[in-house]
Amino acid sequence: MPEGPEIRRAADKIEAVLKDRVAEKVEFGLQPLKKYVKPLKGSNILALETRGKALLTHFDSGFTIYSHNQLYGVWRVVKRDKLPKTNRQLRLAIHTDNHSALLYSASDISVWKTQNIEEHPFLQRIGPDILNPDLSWRTVAERLQSKAFSGRALNSVYLDQAFLAGLGNYLRSEILFIAGINPAQKARDLSKGQVGKLARTTLEVSQRSYALEGVTLPERQYRTLKNQGVTYGKARFFVFGRARQPCRVCKTKIQRSTANSRRIYTCATCQPTESSLGN
Ligand SMILES: [Zn+2]
Repeated sequence: MPEGPEIRRAADKIEAVLKDRVAEKVEFGLQPLKKYVKPLKGSNILALETRGKALLTHFDSGFTIYSHNQLYGVWRVVKRDKLPKTNRQLRLAIHTDNHSALLYSASDISVWKTQNIEEHPFLQRIGPDILNPDLSWRTVAERLQSKAFSGRALNSVYLDQAFLAGLGNYLRSEILFIAGINPAQKARDLSKGQVGKLARTTLEVSQRSYALEGVTLPERQYRTLKNQGVTYGKARFFVFGRARQPCRVCKTKIQRSTANSRRIYTCATCQPTESSLGN
């Protein structure tokens, strides 16, 4: 499943051909949506916003197309009207003067007045997107300490889209490792300093993974490994997918375990449990 940084990079490719362009033609595959062709046609696309796995295409006519790919939806960007040969159902097509952005197979598509988009049931359920530039580490810290999340193990909170949209399995392992937090701990058991560090790390690692195309290591450290001939797959993470290999910080063997039915990777030395800290 794609996580926030991968979703945003996919959206960037679509946004690159749509943003500040006129939608010369808009098509919907689902009958109830066809009435929106008229209000959308001829208006400018302002931005593509990602909210977890939902994509919001904002138009300057005051409308927003909500789409969620679920497991099977797929976007394609092509030269105007050069539609690919496929058996998939075309569900949404936005054509500018030069390009066509095509959404196939997805069925979770709806059109909203932009001012009402927050009423969408999916958006009501999810937290702020981890890559939202307006999201501050203080807000993340407040959410960690809130009633809804402070009493739950962090390994569960860090997969919960209601906490922060866009979190996923590799980010969970990497963020908790870099912050030096054991995943079995709860936010309410952390010191104020630990909560702050975890909140800042959450944003830093997500933004770095977006900028470095899925790499959570600091750029210099990653480049050094690459220069030594280490592949992208083996150099990109601190702990995720590195079971039994030495920790990059302390050489302890990385452990793989399961939490919330998903694999999680930790270093017992860098991420001590409360009992091993003696409190
Ligand atoms: Zn370690």
